[in-house]
Amino acid sequence: MKYRSLGTTNEKIPIIGQGTWTYGENKSEALEEIKALSYGIENGLTLIDTAEEYAKGGAERIVAEAIKDCRGDIFLTTKVSAKNCSYKGVIEAAEKSLERLNTTYIDLYLQHWPSKEHEAEETMRAMTYLVEKGLVKYIGVSNFTPEMIMEAQNVIGHHVLSCNQVGYHFNDRRVENNVIPYCQKHGITVMAYSPFGYAPQFFGGVGFPEQGTSERQVLDDIGGKYGATAYQVALNWILRHEGLITIPKAKNTAHIKSNLEALELTLSDEDLQVIETYFPKTNEGMSLVKY
Ligand code: NAP
Repeated sequence: MKYRSLGTTNEKIPIIGQGTWTYGENKSEALEEIKALSYGIENGLTLIDTAEEYAKGGAERIVAEAIKDCRGDIFLTTKVSAKNCSYKGVIEAAEKSLERLNTTYIDLYLQHWPSKEHEAEETMRAMTYLVEKGLVKYIGVSNFTPEMIMEAQNVIGHHVLSCNQVGYHFNDRRVENNVIPYCQKHGITVMAYSPFGYAPQFFGGVGFPEQGTSERQVLDDIGGKYGATAYQVALNWILRHEGLITIPKAKNTAHIKSNLEALELTLSDEDLQVIETYFPKTNEGMSLVKY
């Protein structure tokens, strides 16, 4: 496993973690989900990303099962929903997450989305309270534009905002125009979610290039040169940015293994150029969406 620093902290976190969106939604899949997370953990994927919102707390319960015998080895990230971002709401949400996760602390606590209802002043003040109480180690945000990050940073004062989790994949490169440069300049880790594209229910579902398209053929051909799959090319392409990490979700253990092995290849400049041609960057930056 390769590691990168979390923001400007001394914490080293795995460059690839495990996402858990949709975990806990279907009881009959619980064992498979716990098994997948455990397999990832045994193989170094010790960063786990979850959220109170996933399966209404169900994903956190699955995570609790998977980490119960190895909590000390895990870097645990969970998120407070935008609607719970009042001062009191954040603290209560964190307490409930801690209970579901069956742990005494959250390594990284993120505001899931910018909130329509609650000001950064309230939310971030609550975040600093949680850090001072020892319930949270590090504060972060998700889906934040640079302007929103600045607002949050102004509130947390001497505390460190160490991470911004954002969507990033071949068909959505908007963060390259505003979020990634801002975060790199200010020592904030960018945690890329949905590295294989968005699910149908999310942002119109711009997913992974499908078999039979020229875009997919290009990725398969590039992968073929390294004995790798198109998905491994995707992870490698994402991780080319300094200070960035990513959190694919994989229930299938063959997928987890493949994601781990993606770290072994390095794409050549020539291949990166071909990707540039097929998946061009637009001029648009990531825009502000509030919930
Ligand atoms: P994703 O990780 O990009 O894609 C997941 C899909 O890719 C699953 O269908 C998985 O299949 C498949 N897959 C994984 N590895 C593969 C491989 N090596 N080869 C082929 N297919 C592979 O999508 P995501 O779940 O949207 O994003 C990842 C995580 O980011 C989430 O789980 C969540 O923790 C986080 N997230 C955060 C936000 C936010 O607003 N902050 C939003 C979305 C996601 P199997 O499951 O069958 O293995």
